[in-house]
Formats: sequence, C-alpha cells, structure tokens
Amino acid sequence: MVKVGGIYRAEIASLADNGYGLARIQKESIYVKQALPKEQVSVKITKRLKQGYVGEIVKWHVRDAHRVSSPCAVYQGCGSCHLLHCEYEKQLTFKQEMVKDWVKNSRLPLTVQPVIGMAKPFGYRNKVIVSFQRDRSGKLQKGFYEEFSHRIIPYQSCLLHDDLMDDVINSIAVLAEKQRIEPYDERRRRGFLRHVLIRKGRVSKELMVVLVTAAASFPGRKGFVGALLKRHPEITTIVQNINSRSTSVVLGEEERILYGSGKIEDVLLGNRYQISSKSFYQINHEQCEVLYRKALAPLELKGTETLLDAYCGIGTIALSAAGHVKQVIGVESNKQAVRDAISNAKNNRIGNARFICDDAAHYMEEAAVRKQRFDVVVMDPPRSGSSEQFIKACARVRAGKIVYISCDPRTQLRDLAVFKRLGYEGNTIIPVDLFPHTNHVESVVLMSRKEK
Ligand code: SAH
Repeated sequence: MVKVGGIYRAEIASLADNGYGLARIQKESIYVKQALPKEQVSVKITKRLKQGYVGEIVKWHVRDAHRVSSPCAVYQGCGSCHLLHCEYEKQLTFKQEMVKDWVKNSRLPLTVQPVIGMAKPFGYRNKVIVSFQRDRSGKLQKGFYEEFSHRIIPYQSCLLHDDLMDDVINSIAVLAEKQRIEPYDERRRRGFLRHVLIRKGRVSKELMVVLVTAAASFPGRKGFVGALLKRHPEITTIVQNINSRSTSVVLGEEERILYGSGKIEDVLLGNRYQISSKSFYQINHEQCEVLYRKALAPLELKGTETLLDAYCGIGTIALSAAGHVKQVIGVESNKQAVRDAISNAKNNRIGNARFICDDAAHYMEEAAVRKQRFDVVVMDPPRSGSSEQFIKACARVRAGKIVYISCDPRTQLRDLAVFKRLGYEGNTIIPVDLFPHTNHVESVVLMSRKEK
C-alpha cells in the first residue's frame, strides 16, 4: 500500500489534467508536482486524495530535455502556475495532447488543431488578486493561496503580472502596515483587509484598485487613499468592495467608490470598453483578440445575420461582430456587466446591439416560444459549461451556426455531445493558450446544423 510520507521511485507516464505528472505506483495514481512525462524520479507522497495521491520529487534519476529551471522565487508553494518548469513550446504540445485525449474520450469526430501560443508568454495578466495575512513575527504579508489550502504564499513580484500591478500591491501592503490596517483572518473571522484586486487596461493603461474589506467602516480611509494616490498617480479609480461573508468568493455585493469613476476603460479589437470591478473581462488581452478573431472569421458573416452573444459579459464579442451583421443581441446574468455592455454599445456608437440581463437558458427558451430566429449563436459560458436547457433551446431557435468558446474543453465536449444529438456538429477544435504556464487552455469550436 502507498503510504503518505513514503518515498518511491517512479516513471512519469503522462501529464494529468491538473498539470501534474502522473505516475502509477502499486496501481495507485500519483500526481507528482512539477514532473514531466518520461522523467524518472523518487517521489515523496505528501497527501492522499479521493482519486489517488499527491507527491513531490525528492530526487531526479532522469530529467526531461524540455525542463527549464523556474525563474520564479515562489514556484514551489504557489498554486497558480503548473508548467513553468517546462519550455513554452513544449507546454503547447502538452496542452494539445491533453485536448486530444479529452476529444478521444468524448468520441466526437473533431480534429484538434495545434495550440495557438504567445510570442512573449509573460506579464500577460491584466487582472490580479492577492490576499493578506500576518506572519509569525507579526509582519504583514501579501500573497497567493497555496494549492489545496488557504495558506498564503508571500511574493514580491510575479512573472505573469504587469510590473506596475505588483508595485501598487507592494505599496498597499506598506501603507496598510503603516496605518495599522489589519489583514482579515479567515479562521478567526477578524480583521479588515481581505484582498486587493487590480485591473489594468492593456491599451489604455488605466488602473483600477479594488480593496476588498470585511466591514464597511474604513477608519483612516482618506489618509490611505491619499497616500496611495501620491505614490501611484497612475491609478485611475479606487473602489472599496465589502465582503463580510465567510466565503472563498472574493467580491461581496456592496461597493463604494473611493476615487475616480469606479470603472476603467480598455480597447479591444478597436472598440473601447468600460469595465466595472465585478464584470468579467478576459485576463489575457493579446490572446483574447486572437481568440475572438478565430471565433468570428470562419462564420463568414455577410451583414444580413442576427447574432446572439450568449454569456456576453460586457459585450466584447457582440460588439466586435456588430459591424459585420444586421443585429446583435447579448444576454448575460451579471447586472453590472450588462450595464457596462449597454454603455459600451453607446460609447462606440454601435446602434445595432441590444443587451439583456437574464439567465442565458431562460432567455433562449423564451426566444424559442416567441419563434425568434438567430442565424448565429456565439456562446462563451463559464468553466462549468452550458446547460441542456440552453442547448435544446438553441436547436429550437434553429440557429444555423453556433460558435462555442470555452475555458474548459472538458465541459465544452460534454455539451457538444448534446448538440450532436440535436443535429449540430463541428469538425475542428482550436485551442488557444490564454493562460501560459498554467494547466488551463481555451478552445473554440464552430458547429453547423446538419440537415437530415
Ligand atoms: N463572452 C465574455 C464573457 C465570458 S465569461 C467575454 O469573452 O468577455 C462568462 C460570462 O457568463 C460571465 O460574464 C458570467 O457572468 C456569465 N454567466 C454565467 N452564468 C450565466 C447564465 N446562466 N446566464 C447568462 N450569463 C451567465
């Protein structure tokens, strides 16, 4: 029997979905942190999971030629990157293999294209969230959660962040220490500062700081905001978000604008977008443009179509397509995002776009009852995927073409199987690397209705 704490020699068979190397020891699955396929290692078992064990390499016997030494100081502990130890080109191959495996398991007749990667895969994140704690000596620290835990791994700078974001976060930590602002302690449910979220417009350079606090009352607020702006005049807006619940969800409902308009703007594929703190906006600007182009180009839009952008966020896909179709309609359940989308249509003088705040499946079912027709549906649901209800309604509105964009190809393939039963099929799946150095991958599939 495999024992936690035991050390075993193993060969890594493949890369698991979570980015860990997968080995078999005594018929058990061992997920080995930072291991690459074909490497031979001695692994120490650190944890038992439902589906196997987690282990850490204590010695290499054979290393992979694509292994690179990680240039990150906190790579061992931080749970964000899983593939930083692997050459970037090879990461793309692994991701393609991963998608191929999922496609094979789904039995859908899809060809997997090579993963579209980035020329410079660092500093790409336009949004960052950090948390705070006091260390044993009482010093205030900022950092990311360790994987599988709520322990905070302190950091100075992250290779995936824009440098300015880390500078601002460092300043916030220094000022919080100076003004005795207590970090929130999850276990004791005491303290004030829970997280800081920063968003930066890639093109506009506008910068939003969201201070997530456990209570509304913010003693020393004016001094804090003034000192932060003095250090960083490049900050465009500061928002206080109040989250008093015992939850791992970062943002609470209530917000107060402490400086600026509470929003920033950015430019994507030529349109300007207003972005609120709670609205979704793709974190990798450069690859988002690649993704949208890949999603829209094969539709060969003629200017006569009605296009539905389901799960539309702040309307980025709908408004990117608006100039190429007769009409676009966006549906989205987050109120703030819908408000942003409506403003975005107006600010870009786009007159043929409408946005509706509703559950996508509910909206689609009602559209089917009204006998509304959509020539094209573009859908980009959250990681959990769409629903049978939505997919069935897509068939009922007789959408001619459907583009499915996903940040988890596994849920996408699950949904594509439902589409297939209803007569919709695609030929290729295009993976796009929106999240270099992590185990995540985005994917696009164009489906059309097969006439019986
Ligand atoms: N297409 C956008 C947003 C994609 S993220 C973009 O590329 O930026 C997925 C979006 O789906 C989020 O904005 C989320 O708020 C929204 N969403 C989640 N569940 C939903 C539902 N049931 N109905 C409508 N929108 C939903």
